[in-house]
Amino acid sequence: MAARRPETPRPDHRCACGEELKPFWRHCSDCGRPQTWGDDHHETGAECGHCGWMVSDFSWYCPWCGEDIHEDGVSSDRPLKAPAGFRFSAKCDAGCGGGVQYPMDYCPWCGAEQEWPGEDFEGTCPHCERGVDDWMDHCPWCGEDATGQDLIPRAIRRVRRLLAVSRIRPWGYRLLLRPGVSGVDPRYPKIVEIDHSHIVEQRSREEIPWSMVVGLIAHELGHSFLYHHWKWTDTEAFIEAFGEVDKAYRVSDLGWVDFQRRRITTTHPNHVTAYAATHPQEDFAETFRLYVTRRGRMRELLAEMGQKRKGVVVYQKFLELDRFLRDLRT
Ligand SMILES: [Zn+2]
Ligand SMILES: [Zn+2]
Ligand SMILES: [Zn+2]
Ligand SMILES: [Zn+2]
Ligand SMILES: [Zn+2]
Repeated sequence: MAARRPETPRPDHRCACGEELKPFWRHCSDCGRPQTWGDDHHETGAECGHCGWMVSDFSWYCPWCGEDIHEDGVSSDRPLKAPAGFRFSAKCDAGCGGGVQYPMDYCPWCGAEQEWPGEDFEGTCPHCERGVDDWMDHCPWCGEDATGQDLIPRAIRRVRRLLAVSRIRPWGYRLLLRPGVSGVDPRYPKIVEIDHSHIVEQRSREEIPWSMVVGLIAHELGHSFLYHHWKWTDTEAFIEAFGEVDKAYRVSDLGWVDFQRRRITTTHPNHVTAYAATHPQEDFAETFRLYVTRRGRMRELLAEMGQKRKGVVVYQKFLELDRFLRDLRT
């Protein structure tokens, strides 16, 4: 029988960069450095000879690297729930009868790989698909860029440049590539999620549609910008141009890419695009997108709207946005 000892809270573990880490994260969420969780606090008196991480002498396999660490006469003769130094989080996925502690990658008793579904994180790493939080720069599991910005560096650079030449100062927005969703949650107006699934699909064909990605980011930034300046939506000038945006909703721009293929339409005289006609918030996001991708050059924009036979209200939208941005600068 393994001795059960009272649970002692594990002392803080800090990365060399100073960031405080949760137990057994493989990488620092701030700087990405790989971590080694040895038996620094003398909890088990044993470390894996292969990876250097803390193990129990009772175990047959290292739960971190999966190597066979069995020793005759030392290892337990049957699977345990939680040997001293470890906690029980779940039963082994493979059903060997032993216990595993979150977030072990392998069962210490049978060596089977473990999965941890339902991890409590805000999002999913675009590199390894495990859980990450919005503020993380690096994924604690794979160490890659947790924002996914490294997957679309050209698009990010282009959007930054477009905002700069449109003279729109960054308002603290944070771009995150996440599977299956493009949108901004009004409760977190600065977090801008970009659906990375079609980007990855395209990637395999070596043909990322850059202008589409740039457009999508600019559109989502429009949502973020509006939530950030929500008071503006109460003003007469705004309502006259865009209407009542009040019904706040969780934006999920799943249809955006399809609508995009049709460019600026001539069939919707009161909206810049067909998608803009779906909701006043989309109307604003699309107006913002065009303003930014046309570098805030009002004369050219208005001429373009004239060619597309847009109604007076479309001019009003651009003029109101331009006026608001000018006021922000002064
Ligand atoms: Zn670090
Ligand atoms: Zn190991
Ligand atoms: Zn097992
Ligand atoms: Zn990852
Ligand atoms: Zn939208």
